[in-house]
Amino acid sequence: MLHEASKNIILKGIGGSPGIAIGKAYFVEKGKVDIVDKYRIRPGRVESEVKRFRNAVTESKQELARIMEGLPEEYRENTYILDAQLMLLADKKIYESTIARIEKEQINSEWALQKSVDDVREVFSKISAPYIKERINDIVHVSERILRNLTGQEEDDISAINKRVILVAHDLSPADATQIQLEKVMGFITDLGGRTSHTAIIARSLEIPAVLGLEDATRRIHTGDILIIDGTKGMVIVDPDEETVTRCHSEKERFEAYEAMVARSSHLPAETLDGHHIRVMANIEMAQEVVSAIDHGGDGIGLYRTEYLYLNKKGLPTEEELFESYREVAEIMKGRPVTIRTLDIGADKIGSDLKWSREVNPALGLRAIRFCMKETGIFKTQLAAILRAAVYGDVRLMIPMISGMAEIIAARRILTDVCESLDKEGVVFKKDIKVGIMVEVPSAVVLADVLAEEVDFFSIGTNDLIQYSIAIDRGNEHVADMYQPLHPAILRMIKSVAEAARAAGIKVSICGEMACSPFHVPILLPMGIDELSMNPISIPEIKRMIRAISLEDCRSFLEEVMKKRTVREILNIVEEEFGEKIQNMASYEPGLK
Ligand code: PEP
Ligand code: MG
Repeated sequence: MLHEASKNIILKGIGGSPGIAIGKAYFVEKGKVDIVDKYRIRPGRVESEVKRFRNAVTESKQELARIMEGLPEEYRENTYILDAQLMLLADKKIYESTIARIEKEQINSEWALQKSVDDVREVFSKISAPYIKERINDIVHVSERILRNLTGQEEDDISAINKRVILVAHDLSPADATQIQLEKVMGFITDLGGRTSHTAIIARSLEIPAVLGLEDATRRIHTGDILIIDGTKGMVIVDPDEETVTRCHSEKERFEAYEAMVARSSHLPAETLDGHHIRVMANIEMAQEVVSAIDHGGDGIGLYRTEYLYLNKKGLPTEEELFESYREVAEIMKGRPVTIRTLDIGADKIGSDLKWSREVNPALGLRAIRFCMKETGIFKTQLAAILRAAVYGDVRLMIPMISGMAEIIAARRILTDVCESLDKEGVVFKKDIKVGIMVEVPSAVVLADVLAEEVDFFSIGTNDLIQYSIAIDRGNEHVADMYQPLHPAILRMIKSVAEAARAAGIKVSICGEMACSPFHVPILLPMGIDELSMNPISIPEIKRMIRAISLEDCRSFLEEVMKKRTVREILNIVEEEFGEKIQNMASYEPGLK
């Protein structure tokens, strides 16, 4: 029953997993552990306090192990996420630093743990790349588990829910998400979390709608409230009126029909009406995501971000570990291109055994290739692993954050050294691997004609290129509205990079978020972009957009676009020219009005 006077309260969050669910809210006590005050431990009791902490960690490990053992079939593909959580329990940043604090400061375990997490949180807060920034959530989730075991605080059991509901929680850890019974829970919403959180990844793999990052949903929603959640738009309507419910029901049907149609057509080639083929590739961060890339019709991996193995483990990964995970990706892709990007890590991104040099301005600091040129041992190990894995498929090597020719020359010199060492050791590796660079620093755009002579391909990283060109911190919400891919300056830069690539006879792709909007396709294609690479779930829609347009028509359209002076003017003509096509193509209009 709807309330007498429905309020239609709209809450905006982050779309974690697409789809619409309509149902009753069910509040679960999750992700909020009461803060425990600091108290001193007498010197004679320090040892037993450390023991208390170790016991809580052991208990947490056992809990996670039990959850993993009992995972139903549909959750199996996400085991690696829980594995990573298990490993974090032994992570230096949490485990050892908490023990050191208890011993040195003679304080209680809860307080020491909270302080260790605060330290890590501070370092993560400076990271701009969202997919790395959000890894702090994993650390928070495991530390909350330990805290609960230290304090004996109870929490609700998600697996015991026996009604058809929409879960409402302050936060859900990946382990919580795996406790959801699909036949009961229609979707979930949380105050915390973001699009690239592991909890969102699980929701997407289960295909249940989720809206995260709502901030105060748990304060505004109560068990029993009627909710409409739209995981595509990241929106929730609390207490909707009859008309809204009816409209959302038909949107839900349209969405489901659209999903089914997309699934049927995702494996068709991305060819324009006038016969030009564009490769639509996937961006992945973990070897396990390759399956999703293939399922969504990806023509290859356009960007394999390799930071994950350096972030979620104790110590640095060995050459063998790296090789195994790269080889797995190459083998599963069965000869389709796999573009492995070398480490884009540095002072602003934490590696378990990497030194934490705190920089005032990490985005302009020692990151990516700059970091690798300083830590050549780490770089060489990764290069060796990539060269060896390249024997198992069409693997290419890509270097991030190139700002000028000297870096390319230096990186190539190191690559040659690694090849010589592998040769000497008699190890099998690919001798003529294709080497490309990410064009994401404005100086590389200016020098694109020169750089193109030295590399085999370009991939334009619009996430960073926009950040560095318009001077907008990509992670800062205060200036988020100025972060505009269709800024005329950005379009000119992309166009000039594509022209430089064509003149040198090399391929150019776009692997930033900009590649995954259908509105950008009619502008990027006529610029001469050969490949678009994006998160796997966006692939089917982009392929459909490519199939719906003619490159010839887009060429004259681009001429008009390039005459415009503001983003608004550009948006207007894109809408005018392609708005209807995009709406019809999608047949589902995402979002609730
Ligand atoms: C980019 O900068 O556009 C990009 C794809 O790289 P990342 O988001 O990993 O910095
Ligand atoms: Mg980048």
